Amino acid sequence: MPGRSLLDKVWDAHTVRELPGGQTQLFIGLHLIHEVTSPQAFAMLREMKLPVRFPERTFATVDHIIPTHSQSRPLADSLAEEMLVALERNCADTGVRMYDTASGKQGIVHVIGPELGLTQPGMTIACGDSHTSTHGAFGAVAFGIGTSQVRDVLATQCLTLARPQVRRIDVTGKLAPGVYAKDVILAIIRRLGVKGGVGYAYEYAGPVIAAMSMEERLTVCNMSIEGGARCGYVNPDDTTSEYLRGREFVPTGDAWTRAVAWWRGIASDPGARYDDTVELAGADIAPSVTWGINPGQNIGVDERLPRPADAADADRPSLEEAYQYMGLAPGEPIAGTPIDVAFIGSCTNGRISDLREAARVARRGRVAPGVRALVVPGSQAVGRQAVAEGLPEIFREAGFQWREAGCSMCLAMNPDKLVGREVCASSSNRNFKGRQGSPTGRTLLMSPAMVAAAALRGEVTDVRELL
Ligand code: SF4
Repeated sequence: MPGRSLLDKVWDAHTVRELPGGQTQLFIGLHLIHEVTSPQAFAMLREMKLPVRFPERTFATVDHIIPTHSQSRPLADSLAEEMLVALERNCADTGVRMYDTASGKQGIVHVIGPELGLTQPGMTIACGDSHTSTHGAFGAVAFGIGTSQVRDVLATQCLTLARPQVRRIDVTGKLAPGVYAKDVILAIIRRLGVKGGVGYAYEYAGPVIAAMSMEERLTVCNMSIEGGARCGYVNPDDTTSEYLRGREFVPTGDAWTRAVAWWRGIASDPGARYDDTVELAGADIAPSVTWGINPGQNIGVDERLPRPADAADADRPSLEEAYQYMGLAPGEPIAGTPIDVAFIGSCTNGRISDLREAARVARRGRVAPGVRALVVPGSQAVGRQAVAEGLPEIFREAGFQWREAGCSMCLAMNPDKLVGREVCASSSNRNFKGRQGSPTGRTLLMSPAMVAAAALRGEVTDVRELL
């Protein structure tokens, strides 16, 4: 009999019952909420006179709307203040623990979950945010959900879901210097397409993934959703348990020993059955840059922009739309594309290791004249660690602005926005039209080190030239 994958084991362990339509009523171990997708869910709960079923399994923070210049209260934007007050009131009324800016533990929901040890292997995790797939880095099955599902989880701690198929993606060999986890996931999405993962959970494996730190695995899993996958995960190993040891919500003593044994047990069996398998060679992956309007439209920094005439018929319209929006020309090199803004941060690449790599590049020069460059830690804890290591000084001396923790310019639901047709070299995860706050703004996704290199040169630059 073939072995079982982690997805199958975690799914079965959390199944309350199979529903007549073939879906599963799945128990959710951890529910993370934030200020944008929870207010309506709490309102619906109030209308239905229902309590939060498991407040001790629900944790809140504020990230999307929080300004990064100054977080003193009341917030300068009255609408943002209102949303924050609503979240505080909802949490206080229902017994949900909230990490606000005064807690010292606030940050982007997908950064603080792992940091606090809330995210653990073998869990089912839900959050009203697309990039909940991030938490799969720990061997959790983690889904982004909509507002009505947030209500359902608050009320019942369950979700109705179809079990995804599992595609194993092996990244073999080794990465070259200057190639990062961001480049790996961009290469995967380029290969499989932005809709290639529909109906699948992605299991990331192989020597490149095994050699990654937890922060790198978080970057990879974060963008599973950009490849269309329902979730993405890495099987738990020593790297996973060593990261978790001693964190606030992680068990101690005998309970730790039992937890580690359970975590190991839920990893995919050798010889597990997969619905599909894919292999990529790590050595073939270059520092990558998106040039279009979805994350699959990316190329190596040393490549030229694709020609629509060479594309498959089905892909041609989206390439033409991308060229029209981006104002780039087919056949030109992507290196040398001028930028106006550089953004280092987000739940993809706002962790301490990201800031360290970017600082390594920032030391090499000064931000180019006319470029606005921002560094935004993913959480208050990341910010404190960066201060302890002297990173803000390095960035400031190079001409970057150092900010407070939040989502910042990833989605621009706060004052950090592009203006007009500005081009932004960004370490975030989405390059959709208008994503960064200006309806005509243009986003080039890349690793934090590549963003730093672009900031110094004022144009898309191969970071390997600076390292
Ligand atoms: S950093 Fe961006 S993708 Fe991540 S939670 Fe915030 S807005 Fe969403």
